[in-house]
Amino acid sequence: MAALSFADARRTVVDRVREDSGPIPTETLDLSHAAGRVLAQSIHADRDYPPEALSMRDGYAVRSEDLPGALRLAGEIRAGQACTFALEPGQAIEIMTGATVPPGADAVVMVEHTRTEGHRVVIDRPVEAGANINPQGCDARAGDEVLPAGVRLHFAETALLASVGAAFVNVHRQPRVAILATGDELVELDSHPLPHQIRNSNSWSLAQQVARAGALPQVLPVAGDDLEATIDLIGDGLHADLLLISGGVSAGKYDLVELALKSFDATFHFDRVLLQPGQPCVFGAARGTFFFGLPGNPASTMVCFETLARAAVDILSGLSAPWLPLTWARLAADFRHKPGLTRFLPARLKADGTLLPVSWSGSGDLAALGRANAWLVADPGRAEYAAGDLIQVLLR
Ligand code: AMP
Ligand code: MG
Repeated sequence: MAALSFADARRTVVDRVREDSGPIPTETLDLSHAAGRVLAQSIHADRDYPPEALSMRDGYAVRSEDLPGALRLAGEIRAGQACTFALEPGQAIEIMTGATVPPGADAVVMVEHTRTEGHRVVIDRPVEAGANINPQGCDARAGDEVLPAGVRLHFAETALLASVGAAFVNVHRQPRVAILATGDELVELDSHPLPHQIRNSNSWSLAQQVARAGALPQVLPVAGDDLEATIDLIGDGLHADLLLISGGVSAGKYDLVELALKSFDATFHFDRVLLQPGQPCVFGAARGTFFFGLPGNPASTMVCFETLARAAVDILSGLSAPWLPLTWARLAADFRHKPGLTRFLPARLKADGTLLPVSWSGSGDLAALGRANAWLVADPGRAEYAAGDLIQVLLR
């Protein structure tokens, strides 16, 4: 199978999961349990927002044509108080932020720009009609769609749902994501590794990456480099909505994952991506479940998850636009790489906004990742960058 460019691989994941997965199940939750979920319905304004013209400031409601001038103080309107009177020519009404603007008034003057003299309010400057007033319906009109289906409910979206009185919302179920680490060299945290052994760290990073994507991680026991054991555990993992396998997808004699997957009549959509770290990344489906074979080096596993597998998690979560937080920064130092591969390399986004590549000894170097806080994204078509050049960054 030919290697795909990173862009083609990501498109393949998005297209295949969108087209081949059935409808994403939904459930209705009360708002307090819906945080972080993806909306399965659109949300409409139940009335105009704001429902009446409201003052944006503490100050005085006035008629703009009366200013500058000394106005008669005719009363007070507080937030939460129904407005029962109108403003007559030559009058000012004291008004608080969020209070209803009285009929007859067309502007609010900030209290800081006024002074009182007995029962008069003196305003030395003119004011434009509409100043410091949010007109009725300027945020949304009754019936307007304020949130479409397919967005994740972060805190701002939750506030919007609360404000329109959406006490119960239809959201998508969280996909279950099985995680299977492979390798004879792996031991768990509680055992003491012998010199030829290492602790399994990929199950830990993947579980957190899956949870951060809003899905439910299910960590399986480690599979040794043994075909029968790998087939058994893959069979368990295919009961989930997505299976992530780490290790065992390179060209080594004991890289048995693809062979094990073939025993399930798997379809392979790609098995090599022009990506580093993570070149031997595998994506396909078996028994109606998508799977990824993520190369086992810790940084390869992480990068393949963030840049490819997470898109599958997002779509299986009902999200309409998979999340990939790419931005740009200026390099703090010269940078060069061998073109041909899209590279995601450890880097540190500094307080001044520049990006500093972090030196590392390769995709097994977890200590370097501890000194980094972002991924520098090296373009496969460009070899050299100078300090000060813009370069893409994947936020972590
Ligand atoms: P593999 O992809 O199986 O050839 O593994 C590549 C490298 O990643 C080897 O050095 C493995 O020891 C290491 N590795 C594989 N799986 C894990 C894991 N679960 N945790 C930490 N390192 C791993
Ligand atoms: Mg291995």
